[in-house]
Amino acid sequence: MSSFNVAKFGGTSVANFEAMSRCAAIIENSPNTKLVVSSACSGVTNLLVELANGVQDQTRRNEVLNQLADIHQAVLNNLEDATQAASEVSAILDTVTRLAEAASIQSSHKLTDHLVACGELMSTHLLTQLMKDRGINAVRFDIRDVLRTDSNFGKAEPELDTIRQLSQQNLVPLCQDFVVVTQGFIGSDAEGNTTTLGRGGSDYSAALIAESVEASGLEIWTDVPGIYTTDPRIAPKASPISEISFSEASEMANFGAKILHPSTLVPALRHDIPVFVGSSKEPEKGGTWIRHQVESSPLFRALALRCNQTMVTLRSAKMFHAYGFLAKVFEVLAKHKVSVDLITTSEISVSLTLDQTDTSGGAPQLPEAARLELEELCTVEVEHNLCLVALIGNNMSESKGYAKQVFGTLEDFNLRMICYGASPHNLCFLVHESVSKQAIQKLHTELFEG
Ligand code: ADP
Ligand code: ASP
Ligand code: MG
Repeated sequence: MSSFNVAKFGGTSVANFEAMSRCAAIIENSPNTKLVVSSACSGVTNLLVELANGVQDQTRRNEVLNQLADIHQAVLNNLEDATQAASEVSAILDTVTRLAEAASIQSSHKLTDHLVACGELMSTHLLTQLMKDRGINAVRFDIRDVLRTDSNFGKAEPELDTIRQLSQQNLVPLCQDFVVVTQGFIGSDAEGNTTTLGRGGSDYSAALIAESVEASGLEIWTDVPGIYTTDPRIAPKASPISEISFSEASEMANFGAKILHPSTLVPALRHDIPVFVGSSKEPEKGGTWIRHQVESSPLFRALALRCNQTMVTLRSAKMFHAYGFLAKVFEVLAKHKVSVDLITTSEISVSLTLDQTDTSGGAPQLPEAARLELEELCTVEVEHNLCLVALIGNNMSESKGYAKQVFGTLEDFNLRMICYGASPHNLCFLVHESVSKQAIQKLHTELFEG
């Protein structure tokens, strides 16, 4: 195991010069941190996604390009020695302009990844120079030289063996002499095309990199001092959790707690790397440790919310007492590469939600061709504007009475697709988007504020 830590800084942590300076101070105070993984400056990826989706109106396109230039220029203006970073950022902005124009004619997943990757490519030039200005022996590293993925643009899958081999060859030796600053979110396929791991993917990148260099710890620095009992933006009385198990935190991430990308903990768990989550704005407040062994395992740990859910309901009288119906349904879905998330069944219907989409964002869609094929088997109903609420805890499937408490609290809500009992760690259901925050608030008051 390497004796150094990997630290990841999210978008708000590198939003501007002041925020980046706080990150540099955190690095200065932790000599054990040798590898820094950075997101794009806050808001930049959203602007790049807009361009990648194709902006035909030239005025709007220029507006977005100017906003991108301004965000980065504001940091450059504060650097002591900005010459090199300025010319690198300017070259990347030229690429953004060229690709945005191409996307306005015809966009593609490949082009989207090339374009949205530019955010992290720019922020890391700025952060590296800022650290150098402060006397840190920092060097920028292009993670595409080690983070090999497949060519599934927008939600690329990492190729672990290659990443490990390339990291050991190229990254570990560099960390002996320098504090290495690199990009989250992005990678490259075997042909050298830029890929991305999906929105919020920098957490996942940091964990993959930590695994590949065999880091002794992974720090996720964000805008809240740790993982809370629910999103503190939704329930202001949410409280920080000082210690949480990998399985509980993984459930939270999987069920939408934005604080961690869903896949983040997989590499950390594989290599038993302890993960710390804290606020780069208020590092003195401490944060959350995610570990294998924790001291307490409460029945109720946290609430998570994941919006933009697409629910598909398939109904057929032929399903009643028949065999093979579900197999046919899943065959069609697999053929059209539709990934299913949750599923509930009754005698004549099956409801399922579709997995989250890739970097280009939005609610997942049932492809028209899949719908047509399914309609040969059954009726198909697609609903949007739904959110998934998940209650995460421990030994829930073995505890009596808690479901009554949960559903009693929500008796005025229309709950759909209740999934309960399959996992000892969670109970979840769908509600309409318009009441989803209210549902979280009511449950939080009842279960966590007692
Ligand atoms: P970053 O840009 O650093 O990756 P994100 O915006 O992706 O940050 O994630 C941090 C945000 O996650 C917080 O500002 C908070 O609103 C949200 N969040 C959702 N669930 C939780 C939770 N259980 N605890 C803390 N923050 C949460
Ligand atoms: N910049 C990317 C995004 O906004 C990745 C990340 O920040 O994790 O989704
Ligand atoms: Mg994030």
